[in-house]
Amino acid sequence: MSGSAGSKARVPAEGDRLRALPPVGELAARLSGVPHGAAVRAAREAVAEARERVLAGGEAGDLERAARDRLALLLEGTLRPVVNATGVIVHTNLGRAPLAEAAREAAAESASGYANLEYDVREGRRGSRQAHLEPLLTRITGAEAALAVNNCAGAVLLACAALASGREIVVSRGQLVEIGGSFRIPEVAQQSGARLVEVGTTNRTKISDYVRPLGPQTGAILRAHPSNFRTLGFVEEVAIEELCALGRERGVPVIDDVGSGVLADALPELADEPAVRRSVAAGAAVVCFSGDKLLGGPQAGLLVGAREAITACREHPLARALRIDKLSLAALAATLRLYLDPANAVKEIPVLRMLSAVDSDLLARAERMRDLLTRRGVEAEVLWAAAKVGGGALPLLDLEGPVCAVDPAPLGLDALAGRLRSHEPPVIGRAREGWMLLDPRTLDDAQADVAAGAVARVLAR
Ligand SMILES: *Cc1c(COP(=O)(O)O)cnc(C)c1O
Repeated sequence: MSGSAGSKARVPAEGDRLRALPPVGELAARLSGVPHGAAVRAAREAVAEARERVLAGGEAGDLERAARDRLALLLEGTLRPVVNATGVIVHTNLGRAPLAEAAREAAAESASGYANLEYDVREGRRGSRQAHLEPLLTRITGAEAALAVNNCAGAVLLACAALASGREIVVSRGQLVEIGGSFRIPEVAQQSGARLVEVGTTNRTKISDYVRPLGPQTGAILRAHPSNFRTLGFVEEVAIEELCALGRERGVPVIDDVGSGVLADALPELADEPAVRRSVAAGAAVVCFSGDKLLGGPQAGLLVGAREAITACREHPLARALRIDKLSLAALAATLRLYLDPANAVKEIPVLRMLSAVDSDLLARAERMRDLLTRRGVEAEVLWAAAKVGGGALPLLDLEGPVCAVDPAPLGLDALAGRLRSHEPPVIGRAREGWMLLDPRTLDDAQADVAAGAVARVLAR
């Protein structure tokens, strides 16, 4: 029959094409200059994929190229610096806070050898890694005691577990929030082994709502900052001072998850975020915050507050599971040291510097990019636009400032954005109303040149 004749005619051709695939060993030998095992593996995977394609009726393709691409992913790595032209200062997808120079140096130094991480050199015996941080954190925040762990989600989990496991945590319905990336306050509180008692409503919670459920079964009152949104209109929340006064009166510790970790509370741009010092002064038993958001340091979770509560956190088994590593600790201590001189902190810590950048500096950098682009025949101008802080902080704050706006013609926005992402280093801009914006706020001069140069290469005719 014609059908079987047809398939008979196709099989040999397919067989020929399969036989034409190179042997794995031969392909691996062509991938010179890389470790043998990795070359063989990449070759085997490339041949297997080509086989699949041929069996599906397609072409084998360039096997050497496919194998080299696989090897490159492995040998060159996939984590690389990117140029952040988005203007979003604390960009979680782009690694949050870039570190201050002192923090980078401290991390590099602690990475390159042994250190007295948990060793008391004066006494010649075991010490605590927290000893490098606690004096700084207590000095800067006014708290009695302090502890650092891996991140803020971990800090909240630890505080809830240490103070309220097997008991109740009282929390406002207005604060049952999702911070992003699967961090949900109710779920974290449940993971700690505590039972959640919700009080008030989504938009209004009063102090009397908190009073009713308090009893011997209460482990803690939890306040969580709704970092990434704000409620407007008929809303009411209990101030941290009032909540802590209630906690004191009833002998219930207050855990305050402030999220962003604002230590530079004199900066007007940060006025709408809860300051760590305010919660400490109010008498919160534990204040939890991130190291790599508005604090401007490495990934870390900080717990500061009353000695008894912090000791309970320190001695809980989760503290070991969540402990901060050596490199982060070194970078965090160096960042905190900068806060001892607040005026200097604003200059040295990149997040604070970008937040408070003055228009004249931003304008100079935006014009520098525009000039580079127009010289190379690309349509660009300086516009005023608003950027966000990012990192789930200050959702209402628009950071107005001059930006370099690029006309993406003839490519179009999506194609331009795609080409910039595949540039080396990748350049990430911000699309707005048909323009590709390069925001000078998150770029230094060298990065601004790289960003504008990349756009020019892609668009220049
Ligand atoms: C960001 C945030 C967290 C999580 O912090 P990580 O350091 O990312 O773990 C927790 N709570 C609040 C209120 C936050 O804003």
